[in-house]
Amino acid sequence: MLKLEQVSKQYQNKVVLDNISIEINKGEIISLLGQSGSGKTTLLNIILGLTKMDKGKIFFEGQDMTSVKMKDRGFNIVFQDYALFPHLNAYENIVYGLKNKKGMVTEEQVADYINFLELKPHLKKKISELSGGQKQRVALARTLVMKPKLLLLDEPLSALDGVIKESIKERIKSIAKELQLTIIIVTHDPEEALTLSDRILIINEGKIAQFGTPHDIIHRPQNEFVKRFIVNQLQIKRQTIFTLFGEQYA
Ligand code: ADP
Repeated sequence: MLKLEQVSKQYQNKVVLDNISIEINKGEIISLLGQSGSGKTTLLNIILGLTKMDKGKIFFEGQDMTSVKMKDRGFNIVFQDYALFPHLNAYENIVYGLKNKKGMVTEEQVADYINFLELKPHLKKKISELSGGQKQRVALARTLVMKPKLLLLDEPLSALDGVIKESIKERIKSIAKELQLTIIIVTHDPEEALTLSDRILIINEGKIAQFGTPHDIIHRPQNEFVKRFIVNQLQIKRQTIFTLFGEQYA
């Protein structure tokens, strides 16, 4: 349903993305995973329509979107810092984008999204009165009411910790499955990508290092970079967990 064909981008003669070709299915959660500076955000912005690619094509449900403007693509993004309006309360933030889109969603549908994200008790709160997880859920609700055709999330878990992180992860999974919405996530954290995604696109210096399921990536890393980046990091983590808590938890 989303197809990237040989997407390439340079900044000042530096190749940032080099011939990225992938196909993504409806309802899939895909993580773009790589170290800082590997080109993840650039790829996300190209899909969104915010950044122009130098070469390549992007198709959505068979339609060539390469020259389609960002606002006409119907893809929506939740930014890393949520970009909520501090002078509006949670509810006003959620419905803000609907101002000029009367009739796009009914009040019942808005209420459904609010219930789905368990935001009812927080609607009248100022943004500064919300926890990190609540802010993230308001940002998700604000985006979902716009009925995006594709949901893009930039480091959605990086500002959250522990239990909240796990609950937002589950929430993202249920958005994909229950709403059959395709979600593309940028992350630098292998553990997040492995536990959240159906498939992971590992990018190294603008090139695809591997595109596969978490199982494939752990059991069949295609090259030394993937081994180093993923497998070693997880082994170190397992070793730490083993040392601290014993075998049954590692
Ligand atoms: P990541 O999201 O993986 O950290 P980015 O896509 O943000 O990586 O950046 C990839 C490379 O492109 C980096 O070297 C970065 O400095 C460069 N880059 C990103 N945006 C611009 C820009 N607007 N102008 C010049 N260079 C840029």
